[in-house]
Amino acid sequence: MRIKKLPENVIKLIAAGEVIDSFTAVVRELVENSLDAKADRIVIYLYPELWSIQVADNGEGIAEEDLPLTIQPHTTSKIFQAADLNNIHTLGFRGEALHSIAQFSTITIASRTKEGNGWAIKAEGGKIVQSYPHPMALGTIVTVNDLFANTPVRRQVNPPFKKQLKKIQMLLGEFALCHPHVTWQLLVNKRLVLAISGGDSPKKIFPQLVSSFRDSDLQFLEKIIKTPPENFSRLKLVAGLPDRLSRPRPDWVKIGINGRVVKCPELETAIYDSYHHTLERDRFPVAFVDLRIPPYLVDWNRHPAKAEIYLDNISFWQQIIQDSLAEIFKLTSNNISQRYFNRKLEDNILKVAENRVVYSLGEKGYFKPEGEKTKEDTKGLIKLKAVAQVRNTYIVAEYEEGIWLIEQHIAHERVLYEKFKENWEIVPLETQIILKDLQERQVEQLENIGLEVENFGTNLWAVRSIPKALLSRKDCVEALLELSQGGDLDDAIRAVACRTAIRNGQKLSLKQMQQLIDDWIKTKNPHTCPHGRPIYLPLEESSLFRYFRRHWVLGISHGITEKSPSNSFSRHEEITE
Ligand code: ADP
Ligand code: MG
Repeated sequence: MRIKKLPENVIKLIAAGEVIDSFTAVVRELVENSLDAKADRIVIYLYPELWSIQVADNGEGIAEEDLPLTIQPHTTSKIFQAADLNNIHTLGFRGEALHSIAQFSTITIASRTKEGNGWAIKAEGGKIVQSYPHPMALGTIVTVNDLFANTPVRRQVNPPFKKQLKKIQMLLGEFALCHPHVTWQLLVNKRLVLAISGGDSPKKIFPQLVSSFRDSDLQFLEKIIKTPPENFSRLKLVAGLPDRLSRPRPDWVKIGINGRVVKCPELETAIYDSYHHTLERDRFPVAFVDLRIPPYLVDWNRHPAKAEIYLDNISFWQQIIQDSLAEIFKLTSNNISQRYFNRKLEDNILKVAENRVVYSLGEKGYFKPEGEKTKEDTKGLIKLKAVAQVRNTYIVAEYEEGIWLIEQHIAHERVLYEKFKENWEIVPLETQIILKDLQERQVEQLENIGLEVENFGTNLWAVRSIPKALLSRKDCVEALLELSQGGDLDDAIRAVACRTAIRNGQKLSLKQMQQLIDDWIKTKNPHTCPHGRPIYLPLEESSLFRYFRRHWVLGISHGITEKSPSNSFSRHEEITE
């Protein structure tokens, strides 16, 4: 066969097809345009049977004389010259999307800028067939009809709409996280299927996306980062507290770079590593990182649809994310949830108990601590004072805004685990320990975690060195057998931490309890033990206040004294409802 050049219209179809291959792709491109136009209200209508999509926004709009240019190939308002390619601050820049969509559909673009009154164009298969005045509010409405009518195969290979709808909802959710100020609506055949109201931070968006994500189970952090050589970046981080929130699948760890969620496996790994041994087995964290960084640091060429990226100096960013997560895990006064009681169950109890009372609790309850006491120590960590031990298991600690119960064994386990991780010491034994009936893999296992083991005769082995923490223990043999059962060094450290931690049932003095609390508060992850169990239960004063209906008490009778220096919750303030 002779080689021939394809006709121009075929070239167009082929090239355009790389980007616009589905319903979802059209939605993505139109929504990106609305975001680039600085809209903070975006409404998406889908009519799957009609292959029709409409996106309406309140962005800057398109000037009347520019409207016909939007569907021309390689026309964009976002870059002008090659140099701009290194400095892209918008989601789009190729000037191809509307052109491609127009090739595959009947498209109407109606728009109004600050200066104009509104104008619209209609194009069929890329050719303008109508141009007319269209009075409207500031913004743009793009309507795509009969998508892929001229390429039936493309319709056939389009994934089923149900599947695409899921994708579209996720896509909008991800954009909402990256652009939290935007209010969104998605309607399918005029039925509302997703509504997200804009807020000042991505933390406000999360609970709107997944109903089981509660605001109080999430922490938010924002940081400006000096970025070499002389630039600045901005990080926003929303992360689930490990004792409150986790997922059965790794589906809610997301990385947003400069306005869109992308795959960046290196940064995702950094997040999973930070949560390592803080969640229960087979549970996964919830976290969203939003990075705004100088555009020249991002290489979008990992994936044709900009879905996966490379970042310059990746270890720098991994470290930033891990440091930020460490900050979030610390127990500082603005890091702990104020509303543990506010869970569904307790809510229902309260509702049943008194269904006609209206509450208006402030963020922190009504009682302010006495005097000028500070809530935090010099490192910014909260101050907890051990006051009692209950059932030789729980330490009752007083905090300026409530009472905490801390389970002594797992709190100590967390302390030891982090201590051993930092400094895993294997020390020689004066008298070796003889183990019987070990299998070869058990011997290997002991050697793998750094112990010295030698054959000592038939079915006998001499252990000549052991973890320092086990030195003075009577149950050394059991501990060694446990360690020989398998796992990596980290598992061994966990096992030793668990074995050597203070047992439940052991009586502790106030001094011992205070020491344990002080050590525990300083750990990197005080929320959960290395197996993922929660360590403490906070009973916040605001919840206790509500539960005991303290707002019913007017005046200084009923057991509330006006001034009592020993009780930091005793001052009564006026209630306004
Ligand atoms: P790109 O986004 O890569 O520039 P598009 O084909 O998606 O290319 O859009 C072409 C141009 O049309 C954009 O550069 C922009 O100027 C204009 N435009 C498209 N959609 C909108 C919108 N919703 N609001 C304002 N301008 C828009
Ligand atoms: Mg675009």
